[in-house]
Amino acid sequence: MKKKRKLKKNVYVVAVILIFVGLLTFSGIKIYKDYKYKQTYEYKLLEHGYELKEVKKLEKTFKDKDLDWLLTIPKNKTILKLVDEKYFLAKNTKEYLDYYEDNDDISLDMVITKINTHTNYDFYNHDIDVDTSLKYLINCNKFYHLAKDYDPGEIVTIPTTYAFGTQKIEKTTYEAYLNMWQAAKEENIHLMVNSSYRSYEEQEEIYNNYKSSYGEDYANKYAAKPGYSEHQTGLALDIFSLDNTSTKTFVNSAAFTWLTNNAYKYGFILRYPLDKENITGYSFESWHYRYVGKDVAKYIQENNITYDEYYAYFIEK
Ligand SMILES: [Zn+2]
Repeated sequence: MKKKRKLKKNVYVVAVILIFVGLLTFSGIKIYKDYKYKQTYEYKLLEHGYELKEVKKLEKTFKDKDLDWLLTIPKNKTILKLVDEKYFLAKNTKEYLDYYEDNDDISLDMVITKINTHTNYDFYNHDIDVDTSLKYLINCNKFYHLAKDYDPGEIVTIPTTYAFGTQKIEKTTYEAYLNMWQAAKEENIHLMVNSSYRSYEEQEEIYNNYKSSYGEDYANKYAAKPGYSEHQTGLALDIFSLDNTSTKTFVNSAAFTWLTNNAYKYGFILRYPLDKENITGYSFESWHYRYVGKDVAKYIQENNITYDEYYAYFIEK
């Protein structure tokens, strides 16, 4: 009898100990989990006033250091709208916000375009070296400039069937142009190049001529400064037709309509479209085409953006 009672007592003690350890483990885990959750951005952002749906969006968009920064400023509704914009880049968030604060009369998508393409600066007032490793995707405009000795790769002369006078162009661009020329010809359109590769020195001469004849403002509007002309890349062509070489009326020609509908299929884009002067820095040029390759040209055609916008979002990032 004594033995049995002792055994019962032992079982009782063990059970109590087990329950005690169990409870301790359970609450320990809970305390630890709570502690861990409080370290998360989800907790911190919720505490900061963002709703769960907004928190998920912010966590998806931003890196840790950006989220840390977000926690140092009051809940910001503009950020939540910005991240929904198509060409939003997280790295530019602070710049978007600053620019929007000073220019709240413009739309958020325009704020994004301005900052992405650096057009919040005046043209020629924010110098960036062209990333020459990009080859067919380099961007050369009034912010990105080429060195005097930039090597455009193999340059070939365009036969006079396809061009007025002596025109030289980068080889792959030439081949793409020939394919395009052939396709246009089948529809009775005879394309003709009348301006092509220009070296730094040649551009310098053009610019200085404009400047001495018409003044600096005029020169800046109608010619590029040396180093800033896309023609120095070897990838840009001024394309007219055999029967129309007028910068005034080419826009009304069948050749222009054909190029508008078909150039992208051969890897070319209209580089300075209508009403995009504030982004490209150039008034509409119905004749200036740039080789970027078929895939990029297709995207630009379908999404109706300038190369400057494409470059900022997809290449420079
Ligand atoms: Zn041109």
